[in-house]
Amino acid sequence: MKKCNKCKVEKELTEFYKNKNSKDGVAYKCKSCSKSMMKGYWEDNPNYMKEWRNKNTTHVKEYYSSWRNQNQISIHTKELTYQQQRRKTDPLFRLSKLIRVHVNRFLNGYKHKKTQDVVGCSFDELYVHLLLTLPITHRFNYIHNPKLYEVDHIIPLSWAQDEESIYELNHYSNLQLLLKEENRRKSNKPLEL
Ligand SMILES: [Zn+2]
Repeated sequence: MKKCNKCKVEKELTEFYKNKNSKDGVAYKCKSCSKSMMKGYWEDNPNYMKEWRNKNTTHVKEYYSSWRNQNQISIHTKELTYQQQRRKTDPLFRLSKLIRVHVNRFLNGYKHKKTQDVVGCSFDELYVHLLLTLPITHRFNYIHNPKLYEVDHIIPLSWAQDEESIYELNHYSNLQLLLKEENRRKSNKPLEL
């Protein structure tokens, strides 16, 4: 049994999403609280990302081309054999690693929050969310060939002016999966918005 941080009700551990960063391995909020929190976020900000992009079209376009060019050169990761093995067999582990590396890369000096708190949902939920950002025809392919895809920030992170906006832009609602090929192509011509 565990007391939920939000609703303060004591519930079975199965009523909490898994969170490997916490001592007992489950999230601080119960499933129904995290669900209603996410639902609330979407209700409060149904077009937030779209509107932001529309307002900043020119800058976003410019930024996209330079950011992608830089990243093509500097992408490399060292992984332990154990982790490589696990990445092959456990898609959720692979995704959580990827997101952690990805998010931390942009948090630099001020890592005051845990990755999951920044992303705003559990890795299970993130996996589903990211899967849904792909067209239906790509979802099956992603599950079997995840390496063909990469996580992309809809609003680029260099746009953040302060710590808070860095956290906001790493929220799961600003993350999507893109086919790597597609991403490379975008680097050569500005993103069509
Ligand atoms: Zn709760």
